[in-house]
Amino acid sequence: MVSRVYIGIGSNLGDRMANIDKAVDLLEEQMEVSAVSSIYETEPVGKIKQDMFLNCVVEASTDIPPIELFDLLKLMEKKLGRKNGIKWGPRVIDLDILIYGNESIKEKNLTVPHREMHLRRFVLVPLREIAPDFIHPVLKKNIPEMLKDIPESMVKKIEVPACL
Ligand code: ADP
Ligand code: MG
Repeated sequence: MVSRVYIGIGSNLGDRMANIDKAVDLLEEQMEVSAVSSIYETEPVGKIKQDMFLNCVVEASTDIPPIELFDLLKLMEKKLGRKNGIKWGPRVIDLDILIYGNESIKEKNLTVPHREMHLRRFVLVPLREIAPDFIHPVLKKNIPEMLKDIPESMVKKIEVPACL
C-alpha cells in the first residue's frame, strides 16, 4: 500500500544548501516525491549555541514501511556525512519522518507523527507552503492552530535565484 509521507530536512554544517539538495536527490531515487517546499533559514532551537539551520519539507508517496523508511533515512544521513554527534547539536543533515499517512507509531526509535513537529515553526512553516490544508492526524489540528500555540522564532524563506 502506498502512503503519503512528509519528511523534514535540516542542515547547519558545511554547505547547507548543497547538503539539502543532495538529500532531496537521494529521496527522489527511492520514492515518488510530489512536492518540495522552499528552503527556510531558521534559528536553532534548544540550549546549544550553534549556527542557523536551513530547513525544508518534502512530500512523497512510498510503499516502504515506516521502520524501513527510518533505517533508509539514517543511511542517507550517513552517506551525506553525518557523524553521530550530540542530540540537538550541529549536523550536516537531519532527515526526520514527520508524518506517515494517518499512522500513529510508537516504537523504540521511531515516533510518528514526529513528537515535536507541532511545536516547531521550522517544520510547520515549510509544511504549510506545500500542504496548506494539512491536519495533524493525532492532534486533529490544522497548521494555523498549531502555529498560534508556539513562541515566535525566526523562519525566513530563502530566495534562490531562478537561474540555479
Ligand atoms: P532530532 O530530534 O533533532 O531529529 P536526531 O536526528 O539526533 O535529533 O534524532 C534523535 C532520535 O530521534 C533518533 O535516535 C531517532 O531514533 C529518534 N526518532 C524518533 N522518532 C523519529 C522520527 N519520526 N523521525 C526521525 N527520528 C526519530
Ligand atoms: Mg533526526
